[in-house]
Amino acid sequence: MRGCKEVPETRQEGRRLVHSQSNHAVWQGLSEALEAFLDAPPEGTPATVIDAVSQAMRVGAGLLAPRLFFEAVEQSPLAISITDLEATILYANAAFAGVTGYATSEVVGRNQSLLSDETTPTYVYQALWGMLRERRPWNGRLLNRRKDGARYLADLTIVPVVTAGDQVTHYLAMHRDVTQLHRLEQQVSNQKALIESVVDAAPMVIVVLDAEERVVLDNQAYKKLMGDMRGREPATALLGALKASMGEALEQVRHRGQGFSEQIVSFHSAVDGEPRWFSCSGTWIQERELSADGFFEPRRHEYLLLIAAEITALKRRQQEMRINALRALAAEEELTAGMREVLSGAIFQMQGPLNVIAAAADMLRRRSLAGTEPVRGVLGQALEAGMQALATLKASMPADIDEPRMPINLNELMREVLGISTDRLLKDGVVVDWRPTAVLPAVIGQERRLRCLFKQLVDNALDAMSGRGCLRRELGIATSTDADLVQITITDTGPGIPETLRRKVFEPFFTAKATAGRHVGMGLAMAQELANQHAGTIEIDAEYQEGCCIHVRLPGTRTRRDNHRRS
Ligand code: FAD
Repeated sequence: MRGCKEVPETRQEGRRLVHSQSNHAVWQGLSEALEAFLDAPPEGTPATVIDAVSQAMRVGAGLLAPRLFFEAVEQSPLAISITDLEATILYANAAFAGVTGYATSEVVGRNQSLLSDETTPTYVYQALWGMLRERRPWNGRLLNRRKDGARYLADLTIVPVVTAGDQVTHYLAMHRDVTQLHRLEQQVSNQKALIESVVDAAPMVIVVLDAEERVVLDNQAYKKLMGDMRGREPATALLGALKASMGEALEQVRHRGQGFSEQIVSFHSAVDGEPRWFSCSGTWIQERELSADGFFEPRRHEYLLLIAAEITALKRRQQEMRINALRALAAEEELTAGMREVLSGAIFQMQGPLNVIAAAADMLRRRSLAGTEPVRGVLGQALEAGMQALATLKASMPADIDEPRMPINLNELMREVLGISTDRLLKDGVVVDWRPTAVLPAVIGQERRLRCLFKQLVDNALDAMSGRGCLRRELGIATSTDADLVQITITDTGPGIPETLRRKVFEPFFTAKATAGRHVGMGLAMAQELANQHAGTIEIDAEYQEGCCIHVRLPGTRTRRDNHRRS
Protein backbone atom coordinates (compact mmCIF):
# COMPACT_ATOMS: atom_id res chain seq x y z
CA MET A 1 0.00 0.00 0.00
CA ARG A 2 3.00 2.37 0.42
CA GLY A 3 3.52 2.10 -3.23
CA CYS A 4 -0.12 3.04 -3.65
CA LYS A 5 0.53 6.23 -1.67
CA GLU A 6 3.35 7.23 -3.91
CA VAL A 7 1.13 7.46 -6.94
CA PRO A 8 -0.87 10.44 -5.70
CA GLU A 9 2.41 12.11 -4.68
CA THR A 10 3.60 11.89 -8.21
CA ARG A 11 0.21 13.30 -9.21
CA GLN A 12 0.55 16.13 -6.79
CA GLU A 13 3.49 17.37 -8.72
CA GLY A 14 0.71 18.32 -11.05
CA ARG A 15 1.78 19.47 -14.46
CA ARG A 16 5.37 18.46 -13.96
CA LEU A 17 4.73 15.67 -16.39
CA VAL A 18 7.88 13.63 -16.46
CA HIS A 19 11.13 14.16 -14.64
CA SER A 20 13.37 11.93 -16.54
CA GLN A 21 13.33 8.89 -18.69
CA SER A 22 14.13 6.71 -15.63
CA ASN A 23 11.36 8.34 -13.58
CA HIS A 24 9.09 7.71 -16.46
CA ALA A 25 10.03 4.02 -16.59
CA VAL A 26 9.55 3.60 -12.84
CA TRP A 27 6.25 5.37 -12.93
CA GLN A 28 5.10 3.42 -15.93
CA GLY A 29 5.92 0.09 -14.23
CA LEU A 30 4.07 1.18 -11.11
CA SER A 31 1.11 2.32 -13.10
CA GLU A 32 0.92 -1.01 -14.94
CA ALA A 33 1.12 -2.89 -11.61
CA LEU A 34 -1.73 -0.84 -10.15
CA GLU A 35 -3.83 -1.36 -13.26
CA ALA A 36 -3.23 -5.14 -12.97
CA PHE A 37 -4.20 -4.91 -9.29
CA LEU A 38 -7.44 -3.13 -10.16
CA ASP A 39 -8.16 -5.62 -12.94
CA ALA A 40 -7.92 -8.60 -10.52
CA PRO A 41 -7.75 -7.48 -6.83
CA PRO A 42 -6.59 -10.29 -4.51
CA GLU A 43 -9.40 -11.96 -2.70
CA GLY A 44 -10.36 -10.21 0.52
CA THR A 45 -9.01 -6.78 -0.51
CA PRO A 46 -11.26 -4.28 1.27
CA ALA A 47 -13.50 -2.24 -1.01
CA THR A 48 -12.12 0.99 0.50
CA VAL A 49 -8.61 0.04 -0.71
CA ILE A 50 -9.85 -0.70 -4.21
CA ASP A 51 -11.67 2.67 -4.20
CA ALA A 52 -8.54 4.51 -3.01
CA VAL A 53 -6.34 2.92 -5.70
CA SER A 54 -8.93 3.52 -8.35
CA GLN A 55 -9.20 7.19 -7.29
CA ALA A 56 -5.45 7.56 -7.30
CA MET A 57 -5.39 6.28 -10.87
CA ARG A 58 -7.63 9.16 -11.98
CA VAL A 59 -6.57 12.77 -12.47
CA GLY A 60 -8.27 15.60 -10.58
CA ALA A 61 -11.98 15.64 -11.05
CA GLY A 62 -11.57 13.94 -14.44
CA LEU A 63 -11.65 10.28 -15.16
CA LEU A 64 -8.56 9.98 -17.33
CA ALA A 65 -5.67 7.75 -16.38
CA PRO A 66 -2.12 9.25 -16.43
CA ARG A 67 -1.11 6.57 -18.87
CA LEU A 68 -3.61 7.98 -21.28
CA PHE A 69 -1.87 11.37 -20.98
CA PHE A 70 1.45 9.75 -21.69
CA GLU A 71 0.12 7.85 -24.72
CA ALA A 72 -1.58 10.97 -26.04
CA VAL A 73 1.71 12.89 -25.91
CA GLU A 74 3.69 9.96 -27.25
CA GLN A 75 1.36 9.46 -30.22
CA SER A 76 0.88 13.14 -31.01
CA PRO A 77 1.83 14.01 -34.62
CA LEU A 78 3.56 17.15 -33.24
CA ALA A 79 7.24 16.80 -32.27
CA ILE A 80 7.04 17.19 -28.49
CA SER A 81 9.94 17.42 -26.08
CA ILE A 82 10.23 18.17 -22.38
CA THR A 83 13.41 19.84 -21.14
CA ASP A 84 14.87 21.08 -17.90
CA LEU A 85 15.50 24.78 -17.37
CA GLU A 86 18.75 24.63 -19.39
CA ALA A 87 16.92 23.13 -22.39
CA THR A 88 18.41 19.69 -21.76
CA ILE A 89 16.06 17.17 -23.30
CA LEU A 90 14.44 14.82 -20.76
CA TYR A 91 11.75 13.40 -22.97
CA ALA A 92 10.98 13.38 -26.69
CA ASN A 93 8.03 11.71 -28.38
CA ALA A 94 7.94 9.53 -31.48
CA ALA A 95 7.06 12.43 -33.81
CA PHE A 96 10.18 14.28 -32.53
CA ALA A 97 12.27 11.37 -33.81
CA GLY A 98 10.30 11.43 -37.07
CA VAL A 99 10.88 15.16 -37.66
CA THR A 100 14.52 15.40 -36.50
CA GLY A 101 15.82 12.01 -37.55
CA TYR A 102 17.32 11.47 -34.04
CA ALA A 103 16.24 8.42 -32.03
CA THR A 104 14.88 9.29 -28.58
CA SER A 105 17.93 7.70 -26.94
CA GLU A 106 20.22 9.98 -28.99
CA VAL A 107 18.62 13.22 -27.80
CA VAL A 108 17.75 12.55 -24.15
CA GLY A 109 20.36 14.31 -22.01
CA ARG A 110 21.44 16.64 -24.83
CA ASN A 111 20.58 20.34 -25.27
CA GLN A 112 17.90 21.41 -27.73
CA SER A 113 20.64 23.46 -29.41
CA LEU A 114 21.60 20.15 -30.95
CA LEU A 115 18.92 21.01 -33.54
CA SER A 116 20.22 24.53 -34.17
CA ASP A 117 21.49 25.20 -37.68
CA GLU A 118 23.49 28.05 -36.21
CA THR A 119 22.14 30.45 -38.82
CA THR A 120 19.20 31.51 -36.68
CA PRO A 121 20.18 35.01 -35.49
CA THR A 122 21.09 35.31 -31.77
CA TYR A 123 18.42 37.96 -31.21
CA VAL A 124 15.80 35.28 -31.95
CA TYR A 125 17.18 33.07 -29.17
CA GLN A 126 17.46 36.07 -26.88
CA ALA A 127 13.79 36.82 -27.48
CA LEU A 128 12.93 33.17 -26.88
CA TRP A 129 14.79 32.99 -23.61
CA GLY A 130 13.56 36.43 -22.59
CA MET A 131 9.95 35.25 -22.81
CA LEU A 132 10.70 32.01 -20.96
CA ARG A 133 12.47 33.90 -18.16
CA GLU A 134 9.26 35.89 -17.76
CA ARG A 135 7.40 32.56 -17.51
CA ARG A 136 5.60 33.32 -20.74
CA PRO A 137 5.19 30.96 -23.70
CA TRP A 138 7.15 31.68 -26.87
CA ASN A 139 6.23 30.91 -30.46
CA GLY A 140 8.30 31.45 -33.54
CA ARG A 141 10.21 29.93 -36.42
CA LEU A 142 13.76 28.58 -36.17
CA LEU A 143 16.03 27.06 -38.76
CA ASN A 144 16.78 23.54 -37.52
CA ARG A 145 19.04 20.85 -38.85
CA ARG A 146 18.08 17.18 -38.99
CA LYS A 147 20.45 14.40 -38.05
CA ASP A 148 21.25 13.90 -41.75
CA GLY A 149 22.24 17.58 -41.98
CA ALA A 150 19.14 18.67 -43.96
CA ARG A 151 17.74 22.00 -42.87
CA TYR A 152 14.10 22.50 -42.07
CA LEU A 153 12.04 25.37 -40.80
CA ALA A 154 10.53 24.60 -37.39
CA ASP A 155 7.40 26.31 -36.15
CA LEU A 156 8.11 26.04 -32.43
CA THR A 157 6.04 26.73 -29.33
CA ILE A 158 7.69 26.55 -25.92
CA VAL A 159 5.58 26.59 -22.74
CA PRO A 160 7.00 26.81 -19.20
CA VAL A 161 5.62 23.98 -17.03
CA VAL A 162 4.53 25.40 -13.68
CA THR A 163 4.14 23.20 -10.59
CA ALA A 164 1.35 23.44 -8.03
CA GLY A 165 3.90 25.30 -5.88
CA ASP A 166 4.16 27.93 -8.66
CA GLN A 167 7.65 26.90 -9.71
CA VAL A 168 8.79 26.58 -13.31
CA THR A 169 10.54 23.26 -13.40
CA HIS A 170 10.50 22.26 -17.05
CA TYR A 171 9.82 23.49 -20.55
CA LEU A 172 7.42 21.79 -22.91
CA ALA A 173 8.32 22.28 -26.60
CA MET A 174 6.13 21.45 -29.58
CA HIS A 175 7.29 21.90 -33.11
CA ARG A 176 6.47 20.91 -36.67
CA ASP A 177 8.24 21.12 -39.96
CA VAL A 178 6.75 24.08 -41.88
CA THR A 179 9.35 24.17 -44.68
CA GLN A 180 6.76 23.31 -47.33
CA LEU A 181 4.22 25.75 -45.90
CA HIS A 182 6.90 28.45 -45.84
CA ARG A 183 7.74 27.69 -49.47
CA LEU A 184 4.08 28.05 -50.46
CA GLU A 185 3.75 31.26 -48.41
CA GLN A 186 6.82 32.66 -50.15
CA GLN A 187 5.50 31.57 -53.54
CA VAL A 188 2.19 33.33 -52.89
CA SER A 189 3.96 36.41 -51.57
CA ASN A 190 6.38 36.46 -54.55
CA GLN A 191 3.53 36.06 -57.01
CA LYS A 192 1.58 38.81 -55.23
CA ALA A 193 4.63 41.09 -55.39
CA LEU A 194 5.13 40.24 -59.07
CA ILE A 195 1.46 40.87 -59.93
CA GLU A 196 1.46 44.09 -57.91
CA SER A 197 4.55 45.40 -59.67
CA VAL A 198 3.14 44.47 -63.11
CA VAL A 199 -0.19 46.11 -62.22
CA ASP A 200 1.61 49.15 -60.81
CA ALA A 201 3.81 49.53 -63.87
CA ALA A 202 0.86 49.28 -66.27
CA PRO A 203 0.19 52.64 -67.94
CA MET A 204 -3.59 52.15 -67.79
CA VAL A 205 -5.77 52.70 -64.75
CA ILE A 206 -6.46 49.39 -62.96
CA VAL A 207 -8.83 49.18 -60.02
CA VAL A 208 -10.72 46.41 -58.22
CA LEU A 209 -14.04 47.31 -56.63
CA ASP A 210 -16.12 45.31 -54.16
CA ALA A 211 -19.89 44.84 -54.34
CA GLU A 212 -20.38 48.19 -52.57
CA GLU A 213 -18.17 49.85 -55.21
CA ARG A 214 -15.38 50.45 -52.71
CA VAL A 215 -11.83 50.36 -54.01
CA VAL A 216 -10.01 47.28 -52.71
CA LEU A 217 -6.97 47.45 -54.98
CA ASP A 218 -5.58 50.06 -57.31
CA ASN A 219 -2.38 50.85 -59.21
CA GLN A 220 -0.11 53.87 -59.58
CA ALA A 221 -1.96 55.12 -62.68
CA TYR A 222 -5.19 55.08 -60.66
CA LYS A 223 -3.54 56.99 -57.81
CA LYS A 224 -2.21 59.55 -60.28
CA LEU A 225 -5.66 60.01 -61.80
CA MET A 226 -7.05 60.47 -58.29
CA GLY A 227 -4.45 63.20 -57.73
CA ASP A 228 -5.53 64.84 -61.00
CA MET A 229 -9.11 64.70 -59.81
CA ARG A 230 -8.16 66.41 -56.55
CA GLY A 231 -9.08 63.45 -54.37
CA ARG A 232 -12.36 62.64 -56.09
CA GLU A 233 -12.63 58.85 -56.53
CA PRO A 234 -11.98 58.09 -60.23
CA ALA A 235 -13.79 54.74 -59.91
CA THR A 236 -17.02 56.55 -59.00
CA ALA A 237 -16.70 58.86 -62.01
CA LEU A 238 -15.83 55.98 -64.37
CA LEU A 239 -18.63 53.74 -63.08
CA GLY A 240 -21.12 56.61 -63.23
CA ALA A 241 -20.16 57.31 -66.84
CA LEU A 242 -20.32 53.59 -67.70
CA LYS A 243 -23.79 53.26 -66.15
CA ALA A 244 -24.91 56.31 -68.10
CA SER A 245 -23.56 55.10 -71.42
CA MET A 246 -24.34 51.37 -71.09
CA GLY A 247 -27.60 51.66 -69.11
CA GLU A 248 -29.17 48.28 -68.33
CA ALA A 249 -26.65 46.47 -70.52
CA LEU A 250 -24.09 46.83 -67.72
CA GLU A 251 -26.26 44.88 -65.25
CA GLN A 252 -27.13 42.34 -67.91
CA VAL A 253 -23.51 41.46 -68.69
CA ARG A 254 -22.82 41.23 -64.95
CA HIS A 255 -25.69 38.76 -64.45
CA ARG A 256 -24.49 36.70 -67.38
CA GLY A 257 -21.01 36.64 -65.84
CA GLN A 258 -19.62 38.38 -68.90
CA GLY A 259 -17.38 41.38 -69.03
CA PHE A 260 -17.40 44.42 -71.24
CA SER A 261 -14.66 45.91 -73.31
CA GLU A 262 -13.64 49.16 -74.97
CA GLN A 263 -16.57 51.19 -73.71
CA ILE A 264 -15.75 54.83 -74.40
CA VAL A 265 -16.78 57.14 -71.56
CA SER A 266 -15.90 60.63 -70.46
CA PHE A 267 -16.14 62.92 -67.48
CA HIS A 268 -15.03 66.44 -66.82
CA SER A 269 -11.60 67.16 -65.45
CA ALA A 270 -11.53 68.83 -62.03
CA VAL A 271 -8.55 70.92 -63.18
CA ASP A 272 -9.68 72.62 -66.38
CA GLY A 273 -13.27 71.40 -66.74
CA GLU A 274 -12.34 69.79 -70.06
CA PRO A 275 -13.65 66.29 -70.77
CA ARG A 276 -11.30 63.34 -70.24
CA TRP A 277 -11.97 60.25 -72.30
CA PHE A 278 -11.37 56.64 -71.30
CA SER A 279 -11.72 53.31 -73.04
CA CYS A 280 -12.97 50.96 -70.30
CA SER A 281 -12.96 47.20 -70.01
CA GLY A 282 -14.29 45.28 -67.03
CA THR A 283 -14.70 41.78 -65.76
CA TRP A 284 -16.32 40.41 -62.62
CA ILE A 285 -14.23 38.20 -60.35
CA GLN A 286 -15.62 35.72 -57.81
CA GLU A 287 -13.55 35.31 -54.64
CA ARG A 288 -14.12 32.55 -52.09
CA GLU A 289 -14.91 33.47 -48.50
CA LEU A 290 -11.68 33.63 -46.48
CA SER A 291 -13.13 33.37 -42.99
CA ALA A 292 -13.80 30.05 -41.24
CA ASP A 293 -17.56 30.64 -41.63
CA GLY A 294 -17.39 29.73 -45.28
CA PHE A 295 -15.31 26.55 -44.87
CA PHE A 296 -18.16 24.06 -45.29
CA GLU A 297 -20.60 26.38 -47.02
CA PRO A 298 -18.44 28.27 -49.47
CA ARG A 299 -19.62 31.82 -49.99
CA ARG A 300 -18.37 34.00 -52.76
CA HIS A 301 -17.67 37.69 -52.98
CA GLU A 302 -17.92 39.52 -56.24
CA TYR A 303 -15.40 42.10 -57.38
CA LEU A 304 -15.22 44.20 -60.51
CA LEU A 305 -11.83 44.50 -62.19
CA LEU A 306 -11.97 47.75 -64.11
CA ILE A 307 -9.28 48.73 -66.60
CA ALA A 308 -9.41 52.19 -68.14
CA ALA A 309 -7.02 53.50 -70.78
CA GLU A 310 -7.07 57.25 -71.21
CA ILE A 311 -7.72 58.24 -74.83
CA THR A 312 -8.22 61.98 -74.29
CA ALA A 313 -5.30 62.90 -76.58
CA LEU A 314 -6.61 60.64 -79.34
CA LYS A 315 -10.13 61.96 -78.85
CA ARG A 316 -8.87 65.55 -79.00
CA ARG A 317 -7.01 64.82 -82.24
CA GLN A 318 -10.15 63.23 -83.67
CA GLN A 319 -12.18 66.23 -82.56
CA GLU A 320 -9.65 68.62 -84.06
CA MET A 321 -9.84 66.76 -87.36
CA ARG A 322 -13.63 66.83 -87.20
CA ILE A 323 -13.63 70.55 -86.37
CA ASN A 324 -11.31 71.19 -89.32
CA ALA A 325 -13.61 69.19 -91.59
CA LEU A 326 -16.61 71.05 -90.18
CA ARG A 327 -14.81 74.36 -90.66
CA ALA A 328 -14.29 73.53 -94.34
CA LEU A 329 -17.92 72.45 -94.59
CA ALA A 330 -19.08 75.62 -92.82
CA ALA A 331 -17.01 77.77 -95.23
CA GLU A 332 -18.59 75.98 -98.15
CA GLU A 333 -22.03 76.35 -96.63
CA GLU A 334 -21.38 80.01 -95.96
CA LEU A 335 -20.46 80.46 -99.58
CA THR A 336 -23.59 78.62 -100.70
CA ALA A 337 -25.72 80.60 -98.25
CA GLY A 338 -24.12 83.80 -99.54
CA MET A 339 -24.92 82.83 -103.12
CA ARG A 340 -28.45 81.94 -102.14
CA GLU A 341 -28.74 85.26 -100.28
CA VAL A 342 -27.46 87.25 -103.30
CA LEU A 343 -29.63 85.34 -105.77
CA SER A 344 -32.69 85.71 -103.53
CA GLY A 345 -31.95 89.43 -103.30
CA ALA A 346 -31.54 89.71 -107.09
CA ILE A 347 -34.75 87.77 -107.72
CA PHE A 348 -36.52 89.96 -105.18
CA GLN A 349 -35.11 93.11 -106.80
CA MET A 350 -35.99 92.01 -110.34
CA GLN A 351 -39.49 90.92 -109.47
CA GLY A 352 -40.60 94.51 -108.78
CA PRO A 353 -39.64 96.13 -112.14
CA LEU A 354 -40.91 93.08 -114.01
CA ASN A 355 -44.27 93.42 -112.29
CA VAL A 356 -44.38 97.10 -113.38
CA ILE A 357 -43.52 96.21 -116.99
CA ALA A 358 -46.14 93.46 -117.01
CA ALA A 359 -48.75 95.86 -115.63
CA ALA A 360 -47.86 98.56 -118.22
CA ALA A 361 -47.96 96.06 -121.10
CA ASP A 362 -51.28 94.76 -119.88
CA MET A 363 -52.72 98.27 -119.59
CA LEU A 364 -51.67 99.18 -123.14
CA ARG A 365 -53.07 95.94 -124.48
CA ARG A 366 -56.46 96.48 -122.80
CA ARG A 367 -56.79 100.11 -123.98
CA SER A 368 -55.76 99.20 -127.56
CA LEU A 369 -54.49 102.75 -128.24
CA ALA A 370 -53.41 103.44 -131.82
CA GLY A 371 -49.68 103.77 -132.39
CA THR A 372 -48.75 101.91 -129.21
CA GLU A 373 -48.00 98.59 -130.93
CA PRO A 374 -44.23 99.24 -131.09
CA VAL A 375 -44.15 100.16 -127.40
CA ARG A 376 -46.24 97.07 -126.54
CA GLY A 377 -43.86 94.98 -128.58
CA VAL A 378 -40.83 96.40 -126.75
CA LEU A 379 -42.52 95.93 -123.39
CA GLY A 380 -43.44 92.35 -124.31
CA GLN A 381 -39.83 91.62 -125.31
CA ALA A 382 -38.51 93.28 -122.12
CA LEU A 383 -40.97 91.27 -120.03
CA GLU A 384 -40.02 88.03 -121.77
CA ALA A 385 -36.30 88.75 -121.36
CA GLY A 386 -36.84 89.66 -117.72
CA MET A 387 -38.84 86.49 -117.04
CA GLN A 388 -36.14 84.43 -118.71
CA ALA A 389 -33.47 86.12 -116.61
CA LEU A 390 -35.59 85.47 -113.50
CA ALA A 391 -35.97 81.81 -114.44
CA THR A 392 -32.20 81.58 -114.99
CA LEU A 393 -31.54 83.13 -111.59
CA LYS A 394 -33.99 80.75 -109.89
CA ALA A 395 -32.42 77.80 -111.67
CA SER A 396 -28.96 78.88 -110.48
CA MET A 397 -30.10 78.86 -106.85
CA PRO A 398 -27.96 76.10 -105.16
CA ALA A 399 -30.13 73.11 -104.27
CA ASP A 400 -30.72 72.22 -100.64
CA ILE A 401 -29.05 68.98 -99.54
CA ASP A 402 -31.52 66.39 -98.30
CA GLU A 403 -30.22 65.34 -94.91
CA PRO A 404 -31.44 62.44 -92.71
CA ARG A 405 -32.83 63.19 -89.24
CA MET A 406 -31.07 61.69 -86.25
CA PRO A 407 -30.73 62.19 -82.47
CA ILE A 408 -28.37 65.10 -81.86
CA ASN A 409 -26.71 66.14 -78.62
CA LEU A 410 -26.78 69.92 -78.71
CA ASN A 411 -23.99 70.19 -76.13
CA GLU A 412 -21.69 68.44 -78.60
CA LEU A 413 -23.04 70.46 -81.51
CA MET A 414 -22.52 73.79 -79.71
CA ARG A 415 -19.01 72.71 -78.75
CA GLU A 416 -18.35 72.10 -82.45
CA VAL A 417 -19.79 75.49 -83.42
CA LEU A 418 -17.44 77.10 -80.88
CA GLY A 419 -14.60 75.00 -82.30
CA ILE A 420 -15.34 76.22 -85.81
CA SER A 421 -15.36 79.82 -84.57
CA THR A 422 -12.20 79.54 -82.43
CA ASP A 423 -9.99 81.57 -84.78
CA ARG A 424 -12.44 84.45 -84.94
CA LEU A 425 -13.04 84.36 -81.16
CA LEU A 426 -9.30 84.64 -80.58
CA LYS A 427 -8.85 87.32 -83.24
CA ASP A 428 -11.67 89.48 -81.84
CA GLY A 429 -10.58 88.88 -78.21
CA VAL A 430 -13.97 87.46 -77.25
CA VAL A 431 -14.31 85.73 -73.87
CA VAL A 432 -16.56 82.69 -74.05
CA ASP A 433 -18.75 81.64 -71.14
CA TRP A 434 -19.79 78.09 -72.08
CA ARG A 435 -22.29 76.51 -69.68
CA PRO A 436 -23.55 73.15 -70.90
CA THR A 437 -26.10 71.42 -68.69
CA ALA A 438 -24.89 68.02 -67.51
CA VAL A 439 -27.88 66.02 -68.73
CA LEU A 440 -29.46 67.05 -72.00
CA PRO A 441 -32.08 65.11 -73.97
CA ALA A 442 -31.23 64.58 -77.63
CA VAL A 443 -32.99 66.55 -80.34
CA ILE A 444 -34.15 64.72 -83.44
CA GLY A 445 -33.01 66.82 -86.33
CA GLN A 446 -30.73 67.48 -89.27
CA GLU A 447 -27.28 67.98 -87.91
CA ARG A 448 -25.93 70.15 -90.72
CA ARG A 449 -28.91 72.50 -90.66
CA LEU A 450 -28.88 72.83 -86.88
CA ARG A 451 -25.16 73.57 -86.97
CA CYS A 452 -25.89 76.19 -89.62
CA LEU A 453 -28.60 77.72 -87.41
CA PHE A 454 -26.36 78.05 -84.36
CA LYS A 455 -23.34 79.14 -86.41
CA GLN A 456 -25.50 81.94 -87.82
CA LEU A 457 -26.52 83.06 -84.31
CA VAL A 458 -22.93 82.92 -83.04
CA ASP A 459 -21.73 84.86 -86.12
CA ASN A 460 -24.46 87.47 -85.49
CA ALA A 461 -23.30 87.82 -81.88
CA LEU A 462 -19.65 88.17 -82.98
CA ASP A 463 -20.60 90.71 -85.67
CA ALA A 464 -22.52 92.69 -83.05
CA MET A 465 -19.44 92.86 -80.80
CA SER A 466 -16.95 93.58 -83.57
CA GLY A 467 -17.52 97.35 -83.52
CA ARG A 468 -14.71 99.50 -82.15
CA GLY A 469 -16.92 100.90 -79.43
CA CYS A 470 -17.55 97.48 -77.96
CA LEU A 471 -14.90 97.16 -75.25
CA ARG A 472 -16.36 94.24 -73.32
CA ARG A 473 -16.70 91.25 -75.61
CA GLU A 474 -18.34 88.28 -73.98
CA LEU A 475 -20.16 85.49 -75.73
CA GLY A 476 -22.35 83.38 -73.47
CA ILE A 477 -23.71 80.01 -74.53
CA ALA A 478 -25.80 77.90 -72.17
CA THR A 479 -27.89 74.78 -72.65
CA SER A 480 -30.79 73.86 -70.41
CA THR A 481 -34.04 71.95 -70.40
CA ASP A 482 -37.49 73.37 -69.94
CA ALA A 483 -40.15 70.63 -69.67
CA ASP A 484 -39.64 68.60 -72.87
CA LEU A 485 -37.83 71.42 -74.61
CA VAL A 486 -34.11 71.80 -75.03
CA GLN A 487 -33.12 75.45 -74.75
CA ILE A 488 -29.97 77.07 -76.08
CA THR A 489 -29.32 80.61 -74.96
CA ILE A 490 -26.81 82.80 -76.79
CA THR A 491 -25.90 86.15 -75.27
CA ASP A 492 -23.51 88.85 -76.38
CA THR A 493 -22.36 92.20 -75.01
CA GLY A 494 -22.95 94.09 -78.28
CA PRO A 495 -25.40 97.01 -78.69
CA GLY A 496 -28.46 94.69 -78.61
CA ILE A 497 -31.55 94.88 -80.84
CA PRO A 498 -33.87 97.84 -80.20
CA GLU A 499 -37.42 96.90 -79.26
CA THR A 500 -38.80 98.44 -82.46
CA LEU A 501 -36.72 96.08 -84.60
CA ARG A 502 -37.25 92.86 -82.64
CA ARG A 503 -39.91 91.58 -85.02
CA LYS A 504 -38.44 93.11 -88.18
CA VAL A 505 -35.06 91.40 -87.84
CA PHE A 506 -36.72 88.07 -88.66
CA GLU A 507 -38.09 89.41 -91.94
CA PRO A 508 -36.27 88.42 -95.12
CA PHE A 509 -33.97 91.10 -96.59
CA PHE A 510 -33.94 93.14 -93.41
CA THR A 511 -30.53 93.97 -92.04
CA ALA A 512 -29.39 96.34 -89.35
CA LYS A 513 -25.74 95.47 -89.81
CA ALA A 514 -23.22 98.21 -90.41
CA THR A 515 -21.71 96.12 -93.19
CA ALA A 516 -25.07 95.97 -94.92
CA GLY A 517 -23.45 95.92 -98.31
CA ARG A 518 -22.20 92.40 -97.66
CA HIS A 519 -25.48 91.16 -96.22
CA VAL A 520 -28.92 91.30 -97.67
CA GLY A 521 -30.52 90.37 -94.33
CA MET A 522 -31.34 86.68 -94.67
CA GLY A 523 -29.40 85.49 -91.55
CA LEU A 524 -32.09 85.58 -88.87
CA ALA A 525 -34.81 84.81 -91.39
CA MET A 526 -32.89 81.69 -92.37
CA ALA A 527 -32.26 80.79 -88.71
CA GLN A 528 -35.98 81.18 -88.04
CA GLU A 529 -36.76 78.97 -91.03
CA LEU A 530 -34.33 76.26 -89.79
CA ALA A 531 -35.82 76.39 -86.28
CA ASN A 532 -39.30 76.06 -87.78
CA GLN A 533 -38.18 73.02 -89.76
CA HIS A 534 -37.33 71.42 -86.38
CA ALA A 535 -40.63 72.46 -84.75
CA GLY A 536 -38.67 74.95 -82.68
CA THR A 537 -38.74 78.66 -81.92
CA ILE A 538 -36.32 81.58 -81.76
CA GLU A 539 -37.03 84.39 -79.36
CA ILE A 540 -35.18 87.60 -78.49
CA ASP A 541 -35.18 88.07 -74.72
CA ALA A 542 -36.85 91.44 -74.11
CA GLU A 543 -35.64 91.55 -70.49
CA TYR A 544 -31.95 91.24 -71.34
CA GLN A 545 -30.16 94.57 -70.94
CA GLU A 546 -26.46 93.91 -71.47
CA GLY A 547 -26.56 93.22 -75.20
CA CYS A 548 -28.58 90.68 -77.09
CA CYS A 549 -29.95 87.43 -75.72
CA ILE A 550 -31.52 84.85 -78.01
CA HIS A 551 -33.30 81.70 -76.86
CA VAL A 552 -33.69 78.78 -79.26
CA ARG A 553 -36.10 76.10 -78.07
CA LEU A 554 -36.32 72.72 -79.75
CA PRO A 555 -38.34 69.65 -78.75
CA GLY A 556 -36.16 67.09 -76.94
CA THR A 557 -36.54 63.36 -77.06
CA ARG A 558 -36.39 61.31 -73.88
CA THR A 559 -34.89 57.94 -74.62
CA ARG A 560 -33.34 56.29 -71.56
CA ARG A 561 -29.90 56.69 -73.00
CA ASP A 562 -30.36 60.33 -73.82
CA ASN A 563 -31.66 61.03 -70.36
CA HIS A 564 -28.23 60.28 -69.02
CA ARG A 565 -26.12 61.33 -71.90
CA ARG A 566 -23.53 63.77 -70.73
CA SER A 567 -21.94 66.51 -72.64
P1 FAD B 1 23.16 29.55 -26.67
O1 FAD B 1 24.30 30.15 -26.00
O2 FAD B 1 22.64 28.28 -26.15
O3 FAD B 1 21.95 30.58 -26.78
C1 FAD B 1 21.93 31.83 -27.51
C2 FAD B 1 21.34 32.91 -26.62
O4 FAD B 1 20.17 32.42 -25.95
C3 FAD B 1 22.28 33.35 -25.55
O5 FAD B 1 23.01 34.48 -25.99
C4 FAD B 1 21.42 33.68 -24.37
O6 FAD B 1 21.03 35.04 -24.42
C5 FAD B 1 20.20 32.85 -24.59
N1 FAD B 1 20.15 31.68 -23.67
C6 FAD B 1 20.65 30.46 -23.95
N2 FAD B 1 20.41 29.65 -22.92
C7 FAD B 1 19.78 30.37 -21.98
C8 FAD B 1 19.27 30.09 -20.69
N3 FAD B 1 19.39 28.88 -20.13
N4 FAD B 1 18.65 31.08 -20.00
C9 FAD B 1 18.54 32.31 -20.54
N5 FAD B 1 19.01 32.63 -21.77
C10 FAD B 1 19.63 31.67 -22.46
N6 FAD B 1 16.98 26.04 -30.48
C11 FAD B 1 17.01 25.65 -31.76
O7 FAD B 1 17.87 26.09 -32.53
N7 FAD B 1 16.08 24.74 -32.21
C12 FAD B 1 15.14 24.19 -31.40
O8 FAD B 1 14.33 23.42 -31.87
C13 FAD B 1 15.10 24.62 -30.07
N8 FAD B 1 14.17 24.12 -29.23
C14 FAD B 1 14.17 24.54 -27.91
C15 FAD B 1 13.24 24.00 -27.02
C16 FAD B 1 13.21 24.41 -25.69
C17 FAD B 1 12.20 23.83 -24.73
C18 FAD B 1 14.12 25.40 -25.25
C19 FAD B 1 14.06 25.86 -23.81
C20 FAD B 1 15.07 25.91 -26.09
C21 FAD B 1 15.12 25.49 -27.43
N9 FAD B 1 16.06 25.99 -28.34
C22 FAD B 1 16.07 25.57 -29.64
C23 FAD B 1 17.05 27.01 -27.90
C24 FAD B 1 18.34 26.34 -27.58
O9 FAD B 1 18.28 25.86 -26.27
C25 FAD B 1 19.51 27.26 -27.75
O10 FAD B 1 19.38 28.40 -26.95
C26 FAD B 1 19.72 27.70 -29.19
O11 FAD B 1 19.67 26.57 -30.02
C27 FAD B 1 21.00 28.45 -29.39
O12 FAD B 1 22.06 27.65 -29.03
P2 FAD B 1 23.54 28.16 -29.05
O13 FAD B 1 24.38 27.10 -28.49
O14 FAD B 1 23.85 28.64 -30.44
O15 FAD B 1 23.55 29.43 -28.18
